[in-house]
Amino acid sequence: MIQFSNVSKRYPNGYEALKDVSFQIGKAEMAFLTGHSGAGKSTLLKMIPLIERPSAGNITINDKPLARVKRRKIPALRRDIGIIFQDSKLLNDRSVFDNVALPLLVSGEHHPREVGRRVRAALDKVGLLQRENDFPVYLSGGERQRVGIARAVVNRPKVLIADEPTGNLDPALSREIMLLFEQFNQVGVTVLIASHDLELIGSMDKRIMAIRNGRLLAGGGAHIGVA
Ligand code: ADP
Repeated sequence: MIQFSNVSKRYPNGYEALKDVSFQIGKAEMAFLTGHSGAGKSTLLKMIPLIERPSAGNITINDKPLARVKRRKIPALRRDIGIIFQDSKLLNDRSVFDNVALPLLVSGEHHPREVGRRVRAALDKVGLLQRENDFPVYLSGGERQRVGIARAVVNRPKVLIADEPTGNLDPALSREIMLLFEQFNQVGVTVLIASHDLELIGSMDKRIMAIRNGRLLAGGGAHIGVA
Protein backbone atom coordinates (compact mmCIF):
# COMPACT_ATOMS: atom_id res chain seq x y z
CA MET A 1 0.00 0.00 0.00
CA ILE A 2 1.24 3.46 -0.92
CA GLN A 3 -0.24 6.53 0.76
CA PHE A 4 0.76 10.16 0.16
CA SER A 5 -0.80 12.81 2.43
CA ASN A 6 -0.25 16.45 1.47
CA VAL A 7 3.24 15.75 0.15
CA SER A 8 5.32 18.63 -1.22
CA LYS A 9 8.89 18.54 -2.46
CA ARG A 10 11.13 21.56 -2.79
CA TYR A 11 14.58 20.82 -4.21
CA PRO A 12 17.59 22.58 -2.65
CA ASN A 13 17.61 25.08 -5.54
CA GLY A 14 14.15 26.24 -4.42
CA TYR A 15 12.16 24.56 -7.18
CA GLU A 16 8.89 23.07 -5.93
CA ALA A 17 8.50 19.85 -7.92
CA LEU A 18 5.51 18.45 -5.96
CA LYS A 19 2.72 20.49 -4.43
CA ASP A 20 0.34 19.12 -1.81
CA VAL A 21 -0.01 15.65 -3.39
CA SER A 22 -2.42 13.19 -1.74
CA PHE A 23 -3.45 9.76 -2.97
CA GLN A 24 -3.67 6.16 -1.88
CA ILE A 25 -2.90 3.02 -3.85
CA GLY A 26 -4.32 -0.03 -2.18
CA LYS A 27 -2.49 -3.27 -1.48
CA ALA A 28 -2.28 -5.31 -4.68
CA GLU A 29 -3.61 -2.42 -6.78
CA MET A 30 -2.00 -1.34 -10.06
CA ALA A 31 -2.04 2.33 -11.05
CA PHE A 32 -0.43 4.64 -13.58
CA LEU A 33 1.00 8.10 -13.14
CA THR A 34 0.97 10.28 -16.23
CA GLY A 35 1.99 13.81 -17.13
CA HIS A 36 4.32 15.73 -19.42
CA SER A 37 8.07 15.75 -19.02
CA GLY A 38 8.92 17.84 -15.96
CA ALA A 39 5.50 17.36 -14.36
CA GLY A 40 6.99 15.66 -11.29
CA LYS A 41 6.50 11.94 -12.01
CA SER A 42 10.09 10.88 -11.23
CA THR A 43 10.18 13.08 -8.15
CA LEU A 44 7.03 11.40 -6.85
CA LEU A 45 8.38 7.88 -7.50
CA LYS A 46 11.74 8.69 -5.89
CA MET A 47 10.00 9.46 -2.59
CA ILE A 48 8.77 5.87 -2.24
CA PRO A 49 12.20 4.20 -1.72
CA LEU A 50 13.47 7.38 0.00
CA ILE A 51 15.80 8.37 -2.83
CA GLU A 52 14.29 11.80 -2.09
CA ARG A 53 12.55 12.88 1.11
CA PRO A 54 9.45 15.09 1.12
CA SER A 55 9.76 18.70 2.28
CA ALA A 56 6.26 18.50 3.77
CA GLY A 57 3.53 15.91 4.22
CA ASN A 58 3.60 12.20 5.02
CA ILE A 59 4.16 9.02 3.06
CA THR A 60 3.22 5.55 4.27
CA ILE A 61 4.39 2.38 2.52
CA ASN A 62 2.93 -0.94 3.65
CA ASP A 63 1.65 0.73 6.83
CA LYS A 64 5.11 2.12 7.64
CA PRO A 65 5.43 5.93 7.85
CA LEU A 66 8.58 6.83 5.91
CA ALA A 67 9.32 9.78 8.19
CA ARG A 68 10.23 7.27 10.89
CA VAL A 69 12.60 5.23 8.72
CA LYS A 70 16.13 5.87 9.96
CA ARG A 71 18.97 6.13 7.49
CA ARG A 72 20.38 2.71 8.45
CA LYS A 73 16.97 1.12 7.82
CA ILE A 74 16.69 2.42 4.25
CA PRO A 75 18.29 -0.71 2.68
CA ALA A 76 15.66 -2.88 4.41
CA LEU A 77 12.88 -0.59 3.12
CA ARG A 78 14.27 -0.82 -0.41
CA ARG A 79 14.26 -4.63 -0.31
CA ASP A 80 10.49 -4.40 -0.18
CA ILE A 81 10.30 -2.06 -3.19
CA GLY A 82 11.34 -3.13 -6.68
CA ILE A 83 12.42 -0.26 -8.93
CA ILE A 84 12.51 -0.28 -12.73
CA PHE A 85 13.93 2.55 -14.83
CA GLN A 86 13.49 3.58 -18.46
CA ASP A 87 16.86 2.22 -19.48
CA SER A 88 17.24 -1.03 -17.63
CA LYS A 89 20.53 0.11 -16.03
CA LEU A 90 22.09 -3.33 -16.34
CA LEU A 91 25.80 -3.85 -15.73
CA ASN A 92 27.20 -4.66 -19.17
CA ASP A 93 30.23 -6.53 -17.88
CA ARG A 94 28.10 -9.03 -15.97
CA SER A 95 25.89 -11.82 -17.21
CA VAL A 96 22.12 -11.77 -17.02
CA PHE A 97 22.35 -14.15 -14.04
CA ASP A 98 24.80 -11.91 -12.18
CA ASN A 99 22.74 -8.78 -12.87
CA VAL A 100 19.62 -10.37 -11.42
CA ALA A 101 21.58 -11.82 -8.47
CA LEU A 102 22.95 -8.42 -7.45
CA PRO A 103 20.09 -7.32 -5.14
CA LEU A 104 20.26 -10.68 -3.35
CA LEU A 105 23.97 -10.31 -2.70
CA VAL A 106 23.49 -6.71 -1.56
CA SER A 107 20.83 -7.85 0.89
CA GLY A 108 23.15 -10.51 2.33
CA GLU A 109 21.96 -13.66 0.54
CA HIS A 110 25.16 -15.40 -0.51
CA HIS A 111 24.23 -19.06 -0.41
CA PRO A 112 24.85 -20.21 -4.00
CA ARG A 113 21.97 -22.68 -4.09
CA GLU A 114 19.47 -20.13 -2.78
CA VAL A 115 20.82 -17.38 -5.07
CA GLY A 116 20.53 -19.73 -8.05
CA ARG A 117 17.02 -20.76 -7.13
CA ARG A 118 15.79 -17.20 -6.65
CA VAL A 119 17.48 -15.80 -9.77
CA ARG A 120 16.09 -18.57 -11.95
CA ALA A 121 12.61 -18.14 -10.48
CA ALA A 122 12.76 -14.43 -11.36
CA LEU A 123 14.10 -15.09 -14.87
CA ASP A 124 11.41 -17.71 -15.40
CA LYS A 125 8.69 -15.18 -14.53
CA VAL A 126 9.93 -12.79 -17.24
CA GLY A 127 10.45 -15.60 -19.78
CA LEU A 128 14.25 -15.39 -19.94
CA LEU A 129 15.40 -18.51 -18.15
CA GLN A 130 17.42 -19.67 -21.15
CA ARG A 131 19.40 -16.39 -21.35
CA GLU A 132 21.03 -16.48 -17.92
CA ASN A 133 24.58 -16.78 -19.28
CA ASP A 134 24.24 -14.06 -21.91
CA PHE A 135 25.62 -10.58 -21.49
CA PRO A 136 23.26 -7.59 -21.79
CA VAL A 137 24.76 -6.41 -25.11
CA TYR A 138 23.40 -9.55 -26.77
CA LEU A 139 19.84 -8.83 -25.67
CA SER A 140 17.19 -6.73 -27.40
CA GLY A 141 15.77 -3.64 -25.68
CA GLY A 142 12.68 -5.56 -24.60
CA GLU A 143 14.79 -8.42 -23.22
CA ARG A 144 17.02 -5.99 -21.31
CA GLN A 145 13.96 -4.45 -19.74
CA ARG A 146 12.72 -7.92 -18.76
CA VAL A 147 16.05 -8.56 -17.04
CA GLY A 148 15.58 -5.22 -15.26
CA ILE A 149 12.18 -6.44 -14.07
CA ALA A 150 13.62 -9.79 -12.95
CA ARG A 151 16.26 -7.90 -10.94
CA ALA A 152 13.52 -5.73 -9.40
CA VAL A 153 11.43 -8.72 -8.29
CA VAL A 154 14.21 -11.10 -7.18
CA ASN A 155 13.83 -9.97 -3.55
CA ARG A 156 10.05 -10.60 -3.86
CA PRO A 157 9.04 -7.00 -3.10
CA LYS A 158 5.48 -6.10 -2.13
CA VAL A 159 5.66 -2.89 -4.16
CA LEU A 160 6.95 -2.33 -7.69
CA ILE A 161 7.56 1.15 -9.06
CA ALA A 162 8.60 1.84 -12.64
CA ASP A 163 9.66 5.12 -14.23
CA GLU A 164 8.83 5.19 -17.97
CA PRO A 165 9.69 1.47 -18.27
CA THR A 166 8.63 1.36 -21.92
CA GLY A 167 10.12 4.72 -22.94
CA ASN A 168 12.66 3.07 -25.26
CA LEU A 169 10.41 0.31 -26.64
CA ASP A 170 8.09 0.03 -29.64
CA PRO A 171 4.32 -0.30 -29.04
CA ALA A 172 4.14 -4.10 -29.25
CA LEU A 173 7.02 -4.64 -26.81
CA SER A 174 5.67 -1.89 -24.56
CA ARG A 175 2.41 -3.72 -24.26
CA GLU A 176 4.19 -6.98 -23.45
CA ILE A 177 6.08 -5.26 -20.65
CA MET A 178 2.86 -3.77 -19.24
CA LEU A 179 1.20 -7.20 -19.31
CA LEU A 180 4.19 -8.54 -17.40
CA PHE A 181 3.65 -5.89 -14.72
CA GLU A 182 0.01 -6.92 -14.65
CA GLN A 183 1.01 -10.52 -13.95
CA PHE A 184 3.00 -9.44 -10.90
CA ASN A 185 0.04 -7.34 -9.82
CA GLN A 186 -2.26 -10.33 -10.15
CA VAL A 187 -0.22 -12.25 -7.61
CA GLY A 188 -0.55 -9.46 -5.05
CA VAL A 189 2.19 -6.92 -5.80
CA THR A 190 1.24 -3.23 -5.61
CA VAL A 191 2.36 -1.58 -8.86
CA LEU A 192 2.83 2.11 -9.71
CA ILE A 193 4.09 2.99 -13.19
CA ALA A 194 4.94 6.45 -14.53
CA SER A 195 4.34 6.76 -18.26
CA HIS A 196 3.44 9.55 -20.65
CA ASP A 197 2.12 7.01 -23.20
CA LEU A 198 -1.59 7.65 -22.75
CA GLU A 199 -2.64 5.31 -25.53
CA LEU A 200 -0.78 2.41 -23.92
CA ILE A 201 -1.87 3.00 -20.35
CA GLY A 202 -5.43 3.80 -21.45
CA SER A 203 -5.60 0.30 -22.92
CA MET A 204 -4.77 -1.30 -19.58
CA ASP A 205 -8.01 -0.51 -17.72
CA LYS A 206 -6.33 0.57 -14.49
CA ARG A 207 -6.45 3.73 -12.41
CA ILE A 208 -4.64 6.66 -14.04
CA MET A 209 -3.35 9.55 -11.95
CA ALA A 210 -2.48 12.71 -13.84
CA ILE A 211 0.10 15.20 -12.62
CA ARG A 212 0.89 18.66 -13.98
CA ASN A 213 3.38 21.19 -12.63
CA GLY A 214 3.71 19.11 -9.46
CA ARG A 215 -0.01 18.96 -8.72
CA LEU A 216 -2.15 15.84 -8.91
CA LEU A 217 -5.03 16.71 -11.25
CA ALA A 218 -7.03 13.53 -11.33
CA GLY A 219 -7.09 9.93 -10.29
CA GLY A 220 -6.07 10.37 -6.66
CA GLY A 221 -9.20 8.59 -5.57
CA ALA A 222 -11.59 6.91 -7.95
CA HIS A 223 -10.76 4.92 -11.06
CA ILE A 224 -10.92 7.21 -14.12
CA GLY A 225 -10.67 6.66 -17.82
CA VAL A 226 -8.45 8.64 -20.17
CA ALA A 227 -9.80 12.13 -20.88
P1 ADP B 1 9.05 14.06 -14.77
O1 ADP B 1 9.53 12.76 -14.23
O2 ADP B 1 7.56 14.19 -14.80
O3 ADP B 1 9.67 14.40 -16.11
P2 ADP B 1 10.69 15.23 -12.65
O4 ADP B 1 10.16 14.76 -11.37
O5 ADP B 1 11.93 14.60 -13.19
O6 ADP B 1 9.53 15.22 -13.75
O7 ADP B 1 11.01 16.78 -12.53
C1 ADP B 1 10.03 17.70 -12.05
C2 ADP B 1 10.66 19.07 -11.98
O8 ADP B 1 11.61 19.08 -10.92
C3 ADP B 1 11.39 19.49 -13.24
O9 ADP B 1 11.18 20.87 -13.46
C4 ADP B 1 12.84 19.21 -12.91
O10 ADP B 1 13.69 20.08 -13.61
C5 ADP B 1 12.88 19.48 -11.42
N1 ADP B 1 13.90 18.68 -10.76
C6 ADP B 1 14.04 17.33 -10.79
N2 ADP B 1 15.08 16.93 -10.03
C7 ADP B 1 15.63 18.05 -9.51
C8 ADP B 1 16.72 18.32 -8.63
N3 ADP B 1 17.48 17.33 -8.14
N4 ADP B 1 16.98 19.61 -8.31
C9 ADP B 1 16.22 20.60 -8.79
N5 ADP B 1 15.16 20.44 -9.62
C10 ADP B 1 14.87 19.18 -9.97
